[in-house]
Amino acid sequence: MIKIYTPQLDSLFKTDTIKLVYSTIKPSTVTMEEAVDIFCSVVLPHAAVNWKSVKIKAPFTEEQAEHWISYIEKLTELEKQKPTIEVEFISSQHQQIDKSVFVSEGKNNGLYFGGGVESLTALSQMIEQKPVLLSLTGPLWMNNDHESSDIKKKLEDELVDRFGLMIARVWNNCKELFREGDEYINMFITGGLMYYSCAPLIRELGLRAIFHAMEYEHLQLKIEYDRSIQPKFTLSIPRKGLPPLVSILNSLTKVELLEMLYRQNPQLCSYLYSCLNNTSKRWCGECGKCRRIAAYCDAIGIPKSHIGMQENIRYKAEKGTLTKLFWKNLKKYKSKRKKTFNI
Ligand SMILES: [Zn+2]
Repeated sequence: MIKIYTPQLDSLFKTDTIKLVYSTIKPSTVTMEEAVDIFCSVVLPHAAVNWKSVKIKAPFTEEQAEHWISYIEKLTELEKQKPTIEVEFISSQHQQIDKSVFVSEGKNNGLYFGGGVESLTALSQMIEQKPVLLSLTGPLWMNNDHESSDIKKKLEDELVDRFGLMIARVWNNCKELFREGDEYINMFITGGLMYYSCAPLIRELGLRAIFHAMEYEHLQLKIEYDRSIQPKFTLSIPRKGLPPLVSILNSLTKVELLEMLYRQNPQLCSYLYSCLNNTSKRWCGECGKCRRIAAYCDAIGIPKSHIGMQENIRYKAEKGTLTKLFWKNLKKYKSKRKKTFNI
């Protein structure tokens, strides 16, 4: 549990407490250095964007303070008025992270896992290496709030049993801190939040590198959108000496990724879950994700029953900055396939 102290808390955050619960490690193994990183990854971008000038007081190491200053500079380089960050060190006899763990003993890789098209396709490419699946859950995490619905948890548990994998979950309340929605949180916070929330278990599990799968549509957008999880930025997220965060699969559109997954590993594809509404129904049939996946299944030739999806989901293209690209690229995919079959 990390407490946020700021003179204007109410104007910026909805609550003053960050809580995290790890499924595979004890709270006492989280070091002060890691707690400061978690605090900075969640609080600092939001404060810097809103206040433009932030003075932060924490038991930083020197390298850590430098990292967070340059992190904010990179993340906000497109802002008209660039924020300035000042850090004040407070003394602490906290435990330092033994960085040799990362270099010499890491055997496995980690993969951010959300159970959708991108992360399942990434898993299909590296399943022989048995990556550890890293999952962030909690209130307001898109279809990953296990208190609202346990469909995703059950599918994930079956999947890891069947393929002999390990899943490490981090429950957190971070999304509840902000008044803004996912678009804002993704732009400034998600990338760092995902990495640093998992950092204590990345260290405990001795992971060598962390993979993050992302479809081509994200690259078609300008960097302003989802800035914190853009491949251009993700390499700058880890501090010096921590395992790299590598963005993969971003040369293929979402429909192409699903086709690859289905052709190469149909068993894995059967665990697909990608509904926006966290209800008791695996596919609500109404949300943009359900409509998109239904259209992809028809274009590729995946029987909907293979992914536990009902028939008769209406196609209705989405109109969001990112989502409209999924439908545009689907159209191109269909016409390409038509030409190929005519030949
Ligand atoms: Zn849905």
